[in-house]
Amino acid sequence: MSASLPLDGTVVVVGASLAGLRAVQGLREHGFTGRIVLVGEERHLPYDRPPLSKQVLAGIWPPERTVLADGEALQKLEVEAVLGQRAAAVDAESGRVTLEDSTTIDADGVVVATGARPRRLPGTDDVTGVFVLRTLDDAIALRQRVLEAGDAARVVVVGAGFIGAEVAATCAGLGCRVTVVEAMPTPLAPALGELVGGACAALHLRHGVGLRTGIGVTAIHPGGVRGDVTRAASAGAGSVELADGSSLVADVVVVGIGVVPEVSWLEGSGLELDNGVVCDAALFAADRVVAAGDLARWTWRHDGDEQQLRIEHWEVASQMGVAAARSLLAGRADAAPFDPVPYFWSDQYGLRIQVLGHPEPSDEVAIVDGALDADDGKFVAVYGRRGRLTAALAISRPRQLMAFRPLLVAGASFNDAVRLLDG
Ligand SMILES: Cc1cc2nc3c(=O)[nH]c(=O)nc-3n(C[C@H](O)[C@H](O)[C@H](O)COP(=O)(O)OP(=O)(O)OC[C@H]3O[C@@H](n4cnc5c(N)ncnc54)[C@H](O)[C@@H]3O)c2cc1C
Repeated sequence: MSASLPLDGTVVVVGASLAGLRAVQGLREHGFTGRIVLVGEERHLPYDRPPLSKQVLAGIWPPERTVLADGEALQKLEVEAVLGQRAAAVDAESGRVTLEDSTTIDADGVVVATGARPRRLPGTDDVTGVFVLRTLDDAIALRQRVLEAGDAARVVVVGAGFIGAEVAATCAGLGCRVTVVEAMPTPLAPALGELVGGACAALHLRHGVGLRTGIGVTAIHPGGVRGDVTRAASAGAGSVELADGSSLVADVVVVGIGVVPEVSWLEGSGLELDNGVVCDAALFAADRVVAAGDLARWTWRHDGDEQQLRIEHWEVASQMGVAAARSLLAGRADAAPFDPVPYFWSDQYGLRIQVLGHPEPSDEVAIVDGALDADDGKFVAVYGRRGRLTAALAISRPRQLMAFRPLLVAGASFNDAVRLLDG
């Protein structure tokens, strides 16, 4: 089916979260009047994940506030929501989707948007006091545990990526004593480079959070909740053993060591799976299957360059959902390439890190406003490769950051970007 999708046909969207919901909205906005079935493994209405490590963990928002589309909104979209059930398989050739309970749906178009699941440390599944943070249920359980552990709970965060850093910042804000353990010498270096990664590391230290870098975790020994006499056998704190033989006492351990794309249900589907679902420039993984969000590895054609990219950030997942719907409607032969200006943000210690574009760790970096070691933590950096601007990053300087957007769209030179904020 490289022809366009019949407007009164059937589309199955698998994954009832950000990218999946945006695909449903995109289909309706672009005139699709047919049947849409939205399949989601979680029992919750589609909800937003960024607040989980921030407002929900901090207790500033009730969990319900994260809802992206309530029952009424789903009704208006005329979507059949099948929540609390996994899709078990899809046949890419025929478009048949099989659910866990063996129901089958024959679809003219399929959107795969099943996101990603957290990597875990071996042997820590279901260990008391050891958490990952991906879902609303994870966030509620983690907050509960932090509260149970009482004042000045000792929290060890394994992994200083964006989720780990946000959890550390939020827990520090709750009065916990936090230590972050990171296997790499510089946190966030693969995402932001050594220089800026170093500045992000300094944020932890400046806010009284301990940071152990360049060291791995060898074992986690679970503990109960302090003062919980009903769990006498395991009452007291657990500990995290490090590769140098030292150990950290922990009431709560949060493992934030990245995610893997959730493609397990797609084995045998006929789709190419390689660090995600491999898609063309218009997000097609097969003639009648498009992918969107954290699991989609698409061919990004930009500024005369072409690369396979998989991005695990909100704005790209949101835009991709709509773009995937548009592609499906247009048909593979006529669909437009997905060419966003990637954007993401992270909130840590009252500061907002924002990035436009797609930096690589080996990119050249220039600080064009503020300073890496500024007392207020605020600065603007630009990234370049082969003389071209690739990305701009700002810490709590949103206006300055947005000035770089037109330059990224136009494929401006690195030197022009370096001079942009002069005068
Ligand atoms: C705690 C946290 C904080 C974040 N903060 C930020 C931030 O500050 N800034 C930013 O840019 N990004 C942030 N992100 C990333 C952002 O939330 C993700 O990029 C976005 O959620 C990706 O959307 P998605 O729809 O692709 O995948 P997901 O949101 O992971 O949704 C996929 C859905 O598919 C379901 N599913 C999986 N398998 C199946 C199956 N077989 N059948 C049916 N359903 C299935 C899953 O249960 C899930 O509900 C954060 C993420 C987390 C976890």
